[in-house]
Amino acid sequence: MATKQQKLDAIAEQIVKDKVTPELAGQATQLVFGDGNPDSEVVFIGEAPGKNEDLQGKPFVGAAGKFLNEMLDMIGLTRDDIYITNIVKYRPPNNRDPLPEEKKAFLPYLQSQLEVIAPKVVVTLGRHSTNCFLPDLQISQAHGQPKRVKLQLKHDSKDVLDVVILPLFHPAAALYNGGMRQTLIDDFATIPLIIKKLQESK
Ligand code: URA
Repeated sequence: MATKQQKLDAIAEQIVKDKVTPELAGQATQLVFGDGNPDSEVVFIGEAPGKNEDLQGKPFVGAAGKFLNEMLDMIGLTRDDIYITNIVKYRPPNNRDPLPEEKKAFLPYLQSQLEVIAPKVVVTLGRHSTNCFLPDLQISQAHGQPKRVKLQLKHDSKDVLDVVILPLFHPAAALYNGGMRQTLIDDFATIPLIIKKLQESK
């Protein structure tokens, strides 16, 4: 039987084979698929790779990633304890926001990634990632409030994944904004409580 990592590698290969967002792919150094522990119960989802991610082939390795690592450390976790990815898996030129059609093009692959990992908690970083699963939520209102959701995994099937989604501000947005930074740190601190509660209710 294929391991979770082998299944994830196959999804990454499929993105290249399917020529998803050829314009982004043509300008990017490489695909930035995901990183971390595929057996984790917690998956973090960002927006799209930036310059450092594009060069290194891993999500969240620049300034926002450093801040994320610090917050993980505050709650006693490391990057090896979680899995992390983005909605859009090639760097948009000049770090512009991903376009709706780019997010849509990558969604089936993100769903497959979640199906393989089968996390209990999905932490969405920023409005793009949050609205990908909860389109009507305003991140400014909904941040830090966990929501139980049945995630549809495939467009044409009834397969669902029961998860708790925790919407958070994006670390890049909060990095240089004192108030938002502290709010993000406070919201982040609820992650271990959410995990504990889920383990107790098993
Ligand atoms: N911002 C993101 O949303 N993703 C990354 O991988 C890096 C910065």
